[in-house]
Amino acid sequence: MNANLSFANRILSWFDDHGRKTLPWQQSKTPYSVWISEIMLQQTQVTTVIPYYQAFMARFPTVQALAEAPQDDVLHHWTGLGYYARARNLHKAAKVIVAEFDGQFPKTLEEVQSLPGIGRSTAGAILSLACGQHHAILDGNVKRVLARHQAVEGWPGKKAVENRLWQLAEQRTPTERVADYNQAMMDLGASLCSRTRPGCEDCPVNQDCIAYAEGRQAEFPGKKPKTAKPVKQTIMLLPVWQQQVLLYKRPPSGIWGGLWGFYEATSDNDMKEQAHLLGLKDYQTETLAGFRHTFSHFHLDITPVLLKLNQPPQLAVREEGQCWYDLNAPENLGLAAPTKTLFSTLKGNLA
Ligand code: SF4
Repeated sequence: MNANLSFANRILSWFDDHGRKTLPWQQSKTPYSVWISEIMLQQTQVTTVIPYYQAFMARFPTVQALAEAPQDDVLHHWTGLGYYARARNLHKAAKVIVAEFDGQFPKTLEEVQSLPGIGRSTAGAILSLACGQHHAILDGNVKRVLARHQAVEGWPGKKAVENRLWQLAEQRTPTERVADYNQAMMDLGASLCSRTRPGCEDCPVNQDCIAYAEGRQAEFPGKKPKTAKPVKQTIMLLPVWQQQVLLYKRPPSGIWGGLWGFYEATSDNDMKEQAHLLGLKDYQTETLAGFRHTFSHFHLDITPVLLKLNQPPQLAVREEGQCWYDLNAPENLGLAAPTKTLFSTLKGNLA
């Protein structure tokens, strides 16, 4: 590719030949559809996102439909994607758009950024991709391309490094075809300029890429300084009567906020006490194989304990925030990831 062409022109010319143009959220783009796809894509690969996006849009085709939906339904459509704060924020933001913007997606960067869960880059992506507005973006993929191209030292989580990358992003974002350019930068970062083994020979900006010239691609972007993640322990109580297990709806904030999960205990005595408070009396316990669930900030070592009831439970079949969940007739509930894992274990155990 001609090195005399501007950075943006080389990126756009590559996009014309190689960019992705047929993804579901690239068809008849609206701020709403771009918003949903951008949030889903934040921590998740395109191939995983596609079926979730399609199901989500079929169930919540408009911002109004999303705002009016029960939170359980929204979380259910997120089950398996992880990082559930994203779904809770989508739901909250939809309510704000209906209440404060008359149901119309806001059209300025400041307004879009004021919505829950939307940062500067996502706001820029929504308004550039859906409305053609001139805004730079800086998601993880774009950071990698720019950091390598200009050999920007340091971890992008540091404000000074992030500011430098924003400056580079703004300098390069063209006034024409901004939507295609931003899409192309995300695509380039997700394909040729991937984290491991980048395909520099085919890259449209390889002629002036410093990391490529110096063979230092693996050094950029700089890594986060390492700190060991703490390990926490929990016991999960799995009261079982026939094929039903007792679940409760977790508080709206904190880990797995608003999702359904198992009651937890800190020790054997605590477990007995909780079982007593739940009205569980006549049961046999069996400790199942433990496993680790890793969050961004800590590891959680989970010890599941089966409480096999010998008599029907005293609790009502369904109380507010609590239910006996039938493993043979799954309900549409948002479930915490370990809850799903334990359902599979239970099915094998109770078969
Ligand atoms: S030449 Fe390689 S490292 Fe540089 S931007 Fe292109 S793919 Fe990334």
